[in-house]
Amino acid sequence: MVIASVPEQKVKIGPTQLLINNEWVDSVSGKRFETINPATGEVICHVAEADAADVDRAVEAARKAFSSGDWKNMSATGRGELLYKLADLIEQNIEELARLETLDNGKPLNDSLKADLPLVIACYRYYAGWADKIQGKTIPINGPYFCYTRHEPVGVVGQIIPWNFPLLMQAWKLAPALATGNTVILKTAEQTPLSALRIGELIVEAGFPPGVVNILSGYGPTAGGAIARHMDIDKVAFTGSTEVGHLIMEAAAKSNLKRVTLELGGKSPNIVFADADMDQAIEGAHFGLFFNQGQCCCAGSRVFVEEKCYDEFVAKSVERAKRRTVGNPFDTQTEQGPQVDKEQFHKVMSYIESGQREGAKMLCGGSQAGSQGYFIEPTIFADVQDEMKIAQEEIFGPVMSIIKFKDIDEVIKRANTTIYGLAAAVWTKDITKAHAIAHSLRAGTVWVNCFDVFDAAAPFGGFKQSGIGRELGEYGLQQYTEVKTVTVKL
Ligand code: ADP
Repeated sequence: MVIASVPEQKVKIGPTQLLINNEWVDSVSGKRFETINPATGEVICHVAEADAADVDRAVEAARKAFSSGDWKNMSATGRGELLYKLADLIEQNIEELARLETLDNGKPLNDSLKADLPLVIACYRYYAGWADKIQGKTIPINGPYFCYTRHEPVGVVGQIIPWNFPLLMQAWKLAPALATGNTVILKTAEQTPLSALRIGELIVEAGFPPGVVNILSGYGPTAGGAIARHMDIDKVAFTGSTEVGHLIMEAAAKSNLKRVTLELGGKSPNIVFADADMDQAIEGAHFGLFFNQGQCCCAGSRVFVEEKCYDEFVAKSVERAKRRTVGNPFDTQTEQGPQVDKEQFHKVMSYIESGQREGAKMLCGGSQAGSQGYFIEPTIFADVQDEMKIAQEEIFGPVMSIIKFKDIDEVIKRANTTIYGLAAAVWTKDITKAHAIAHSLRAGTVWVNCFDVFDAAAPFGGFKQSGIGRELGEYGLQQYTEVKTVTVKL
């Protein structure tokens, strides 16, 4: 493991105000809050802090844009063209956006540039293509009637996104909502407001009419809460913790029964059989857990390994983790940057302490890496038992728990014993076993001999307390339309 220094970076900072009705404005209260560079702990800049009054302003603009004017009257093809234009503008500014993302979030520039941004661009293009292909049905009902359905936009949509993939989560939210003709108030995570605001500039440049996309930076309980309980927001789409997911649903239930889609936490099982290609499984499990500093809701954080290959798997995984390059996220050699902020840093460290306390065997890592910023050494626990906290709760950091199993029925049962059901993976050369596992696991995504394979066309979302609804793909569109039945007497 190498700890590279964190030299000062020249990164262009975009807007720091709120985007409401295509105008950059201060918050009603005039308040601003700081955003931190997690690699150094230093303040990057201050951004406007939205609260309920700003949400009201944004909703007013979004409602107006939804009900009349250029957006309402725009053809489906026109909406698609605007999304294509936005994707082109993002592509033209890819380097600048990737650097801004890395500065504010801490993820390695290599990842921002080669993973996040290409997926962002692909997502906008994928849904741009859908805009004029959203169709209802004609239905042969009884009697002299002509019956058909229309898939109409839900209306004014509130979207609340997390900090782990700021630009990608913005794309997953905005692209399907706009392709289907909704208008949006999007709230960024307080840790990472900057890149979404720069996209706001590109949205205006692309030519989206005023009020169609409004972007607010602000805190969860204030601005986020105001969105969740707003009486004139028709739907809320949220990605974040399961804990806050409960609050969002409660607020929606107590206000106007707005539609709710949730993408929440996970504790994904990653199951390795002895007949797998062991080197691929080890690298895949390493990537599946440590990617993005372990800050993925689908991270393969419970690695179940068959008894027969357990010792080999553990030894090689530890060797791999010790080679992981941790350091300056702007260095092209870096595989792992800092955790997003001090709070997450301490949360992850407390899970590491709990693993030690509960008797799991810590074989590498366990400490802060370096002396500045929020870096944590890649950490592996072996001999983890199902009931330990590190095997039950979402850690959201670079901490792998390796668990031993004997046979397939046992591992399916244990893998499913969790409140979560977001993702899972299995490593084996036996195709029958692979499908048996894929069909038995209660999870929204199952990867076979791979991990974290994402595509704008493939739906993603959770069973159980990992969420409600799906994002991406054709399924993702359904969450942004209301079905209207029209019946005509002939
Ligand atoms: P994490 O714990 O990983 O930061 P959160 O679920 O707290 O995840 O945050 C995800 C998003 O939800 C952020 O944009 C945050 O501001 C927002 N949020 C947090 N609390 C609330 C809340 N009570 N109501 C609405 N949004 C919230």
